[in-house]
Amino acid sequence: MSNEYDVVVIGGGPAGYPCAIRASQLGFKTACIDAWLNKDNTPAFGGTCLNAGCIPSKALLESSELYYRMRHEAAAHGIGSGTLTLDLAKMQQRKQSVSRQLTGGIKTLFAANKVTGLHGTGRLLGEGRVEFKAHDGATEVLKARHIVVATGSEPVNLKIAPFDGERIVDSWGALDFTEVPETLGIIGAGVIGVELGSVWSRLGARTVILEALPNFLPMVDAQIAREALRHLTKQGLDIRLGAKVLSAKNNGKDVTVEYELNGERSSERFEKLIVAVGRRPYTKGAGLEQIGVQLDERGFVKVDAHYRTNVPGVYAIGDVIGGAMLAHKGIEEGVALAEQLAGHHTQVNYNAVPSVVYTAPEIGWVGLSEEQARAKGHEVKTGLGPFAANGRAKAMEQAAGSIKVIADAKTDRILGVHMVGPYVSELLAEAVLALEFAATCEDIALTMHGHPTLSENFHEAVLLVDGRAVHAV
Ligand code: FAD
Repeated sequence: MSNEYDVVVIGGGPAGYPCAIRASQLGFKTACIDAWLNKDNTPAFGGTCLNAGCIPSKALLESSELYYRMRHEAAAHGIGSGTLTLDLAKMQQRKQSVSRQLTGGIKTLFAANKVTGLHGTGRLLGEGRVEFKAHDGATEVLKARHIVVATGSEPVNLKIAPFDGERIVDSWGALDFTEVPETLGIIGAGVIGVELGSVWSRLGARTVILEALPNFLPMVDAQIAREALRHLTKQGLDIRLGAKVLSAKNNGKDVTVEYELNGERSSERFEKLIVAVGRRPYTKGAGLEQIGVQLDERGFVKVDAHYRTNVPGVYAIGDVIGGAMLAHKGIEEGVALAEQLAGHHTQVNYNAVPSVVYTAPEIGWVGLSEEQARAKGHEVKTGLGPFAANGRAKAMEQAAGSIKVIADAKTDRILGVHMVGPYVSELLAEAVLALEFAATCEDIALTMHGHPTLSENFHEAVLLVDGRAVHAV
């Protein structure tokens, strides 16, 4: 019967759609239901990441960086930029086109892999049944041996600064500005706040980021985070740490934000305010509680090491189960789950999850910071390789930043690599591989790196751990 499946995946974001494809490749008859509707009411697979997160934000980061470099750096290369113009509508069209090419690609992948892709809402009914409600209202009940919940997350809405979609916006709204705001306030200096701040600040908005915590990016090694903060501040991002926002009010022509900093109350007006204080699990309308699926106190779906919920035959992956709320973590979980359903022994290594902030310079890290390694009782040795000594970075006129390697002094094993610098999002892959293969500093020291490359600086940082770098002074 056509509505009977082996696997039904609810949610077609980076966790759900790879799970569906891999399940189908492994011989399961699979459907993937996805509710996403873009602002023009067009449905699209890909979830937050492809439609309103990773991809559109990176498209704008790339465009704004190009604009910034033309304005501020082209002259150093002997290139006159003439009269530089900014066509934001065209920039936004390019962003949309990049997203749409990729979301369209998922449809093609579904067809090639025989996954039934369904646009609409999925709701668990219990006993292996899922109600599918298409966007036109038509409903159908699907049956499945395995049901995978991959419904993702949504932005946290602050009571003191509620989204109004006009001046007080979430990250999706902030990707769709049609004009560069003259003044921009952001609540939250986390990854999303800093990336969006970077975009609009480079395009000309006077940008202030208010962060309640006293430290910048506390999950990053303190030495690297301090260096990153220095570079971002130099570019004009006004990041105020320890600033607790008390209220935000849309007055019609701007937003008044009241906050407390160093025990003093202040108030500031912004044309737009982005609230970027984190994301929370999204389970609305999926019927989880009705069939008795347990959630934790923060609303994340509780799962065991094999992504099984407490209800037999119901699994969950991606942002909705918490942990690192990142697309690649969801992808790995989706693939691992599909393979586990087929009887394979696939596991996700949560000790080697790369994280990146796509500013310029970029900030990237994997594994432990020096502080975390010490807190875990490791005897630590470190090496810090500055890009200022790297030939390629110099040639690129992008020599800001450093790579820090954190290793265990007794075993020589690399525990973490934290970096700030040009294209560290790409350099990070080598560090992830080092952690995945449990590499020692010796292993990397004996690995030849091409010259001149940015990756040489990872080699250099490793050599610096044991004081045997040739280029250090
Ligand atoms: P989602 O991508 O949220 O997908 C869930 C899908 O399920 C959605 O399409 C939703 O409509 C659908 N759904 C929900 N309920 C139902 C239902 N009942 N029935 C059917 N469908 C349903 N991560 C990175 O790794 N790198 C980045 O650079 C990055 N940048 C980001 C930038 C921004 C601005 C934001 C907001 C996020 C960013 N992220 C980034 C995070 C990343 O987007 C998420 O971690 C990722 O999308 C989570 O994948 P997911 O599949 O779990 O959930």
